Amino acid sequence: MLYSNYFVPTIKEIPSDAEVVSHQLMLRAGMIRKLTSGIYTFLPAGLKAIRKVENIVREEMNRSGAIEVLMPAVQPAELWQESGRWEFYGKELLRFKDRHNHDCCIGPTHEEVITDLVRKEIRSYRQLPVNFYQIQTKFRDEIRPRFGVMRCKEFIMKDAYSFDVDATGADKSYEIMYDAYTRIFRRCGLTFRAVEADSGSIGGSYSHEFMVLSDTGEDEIVNCLSCSYAANLEKAEVKAASPEPADRPPGILEEVRTPDVRTIEELTAFLSLPPDQIVKTLIFSADGNVVAALIRGDHELNEVKFKNLLGAEQIELADPRLVAEVTGAPMGFAGPVRLKAKMIADHAIRNMANFVTGANKEDFHLRNVNLERDFSVNQFADLRMIMAGDRCPRCDGELNFGRGIEVGHVFKLGTKYSKAMHAVFLDEQGGEKLFFMGCYGIGIARTVAAAIEQKHDQDGIIFPISIAPFEVCLLPLQMHEREVVDAAQKIYDACLACGVDVLMDDRDVRPGVKFKDADLLGIPLRVTVGERTLKEGMVEIKVRSERESAKVPLSEAPALIPAKIKALYDQIK
Ligand code: ATP
Ligand code: MG
Repeated sequence: MLYSNYFVPTIKEIPSDAEVVSHQLMLRAGMIRKLTSGIYTFLPAGLKAIRKVENIVREEMNRSGAIEVLMPAVQPAELWQESGRWEFYGKELLRFKDRHNHDCCIGPTHEEVITDLVRKEIRSYRQLPVNFYQIQTKFRDEIRPRFGVMRCKEFIMKDAYSFDVDATGADKSYEIMYDAYTRIFRRCGLTFRAVEADSGSIGGSYSHEFMVLSDTGEDEIVNCLSCSYAANLEKAEVKAASPEPADRPPGILEEVRTPDVRTIEELTAFLSLPPDQIVKTLIFSADGNVVAALIRGDHELNEVKFKNLLGAEQIELADPRLVAEVTGAPMGFAGPVRLKAKMIADHAIRNMANFVTGANKEDFHLRNVNLERDFSVNQFADLRMIMAGDRCPRCDGELNFGRGIEVGHVFKLGTKYSKAMHAVFLDEQGGEKLFFMGCYGIGIARTVAAAIEQKHDQDGIIFPISIAPFEVCLLPLQMHEREVVDAAQKIYDACLACGVDVLMDDRDVRPGVKFKDADLLGIPLRVTVGERTLKEGMVEIKVRSERESAKVPLSEAPALIPAKIKALYDQIK
């Protein structure tokens, strides 16, 4: 590609409305432009990076045995009513009516459409397993689009859906996708972890998110420094401490007057007590049933764990009216003693003695509360958020707390959609069986943005070669010097002849401008043809991620460039 025949509108200034580096650099390098909130146009160089990620994804999906299809963006409401998501899906689902007053939506995801297709087309167990995928535009009316194409409304996703005869088959399909994703993100040159994630309300019980490690990530993750355990913070298991015998005999249960003292901070200050001697009683309404969570004062309840344990669709903290009904007191004085509600306690409570709780009485707390003697709970469970100092739940190793950008998600769906939409096949005995499904997504543009977030310097992007808009940028520094232009043309032709993706900056601009733009766009290999070096019969080669450049004889450049490129690819194999 010749720069003079291309379009890379670079910008010097840092755009004021771009908060994160990848957004700033994609704008500055002329890769994207905003049309309106959360909606972007990909300019040529941005599109090339997108296509490179797509190609890697496509190759690895095909290699894994998945089959490419292309489903429509617009979907009829009926399918979403069948699955139940028409009501359940929030405002992210963009709904509209067509001219016949027919409810429609723009697909934020395609479980309904693919399940409808498969229930009509696949009849027999003999046709299974099958995995259909597409690379297609999604729309989600995100409440707060931000970070450029990282969290936008209209975005390109690779989504795949597997169909199996049973859970064992579905496990196998999941594993195949997990491995394909590992290859994809490795080939994209990213540093990532597959973390155990919460499956939320989709209903499956098992999922992994592929996280690109980056300080600017929206997700908090933990990973073990000794074993491969990694998890989303909201999912991370906390190892139950082994029970210890109480170090003090149980004291006498007594009420303490604590006027207007409601929070843990107020209570620790008022009673001069460390928070780990207090038990918080959090009252929830779980699908309409009252249930209390007991958590040590210095710990934080993990609502996701609590909700999953209860198997509830929805949980919310009880409002003052419900709290008064259950405890007989206003908010801030709930406690487990004589509480008329189901109680679930975090494991840590087991090892506590003589603690403080609310008294279920306005302006009072209880001191010297003890398990079993004063109250008992329905169940002990892992209910709390993991925190600094906790050890790995698998190997007891040290944990690292960091952030990540979710670029991919693999998910076991079970029979949630096949059941709701009556999608069945005939088994060996001729009986009807529900399909076991899995779904697997990759954000294509988010992957490009995540790569930039992970790899850049003060001069611009440092693209991994596999997803860079071009592999080589060729800079003839003096366009009016015949020798320079001829030598560059020779290298350019040689690159094209052996399939190297090269951009030749043939603009008649100062060398400094060419260098700056090349660095900004992050093309991995730079080949400079300058008047002075050419007099010695040399050209200069520089790898974007390295500081030093090297002079090589002009005659050797055509062979050296492909070799350098291969070496860069080999680094991310
Ligand atoms: P998130 O938790 O980031 O909102 P999600 O869990 O809703 O994402 P999935 O439904 O699992 O996302 O979608 C699959 C992939 O699509 C994600 O892993 C992510 O890479 C990408 N993706 C999701 N939402 C967006 C968005 N608003 N903008 C860009 N990419 C997105
Ligand atoms: Mg997700």
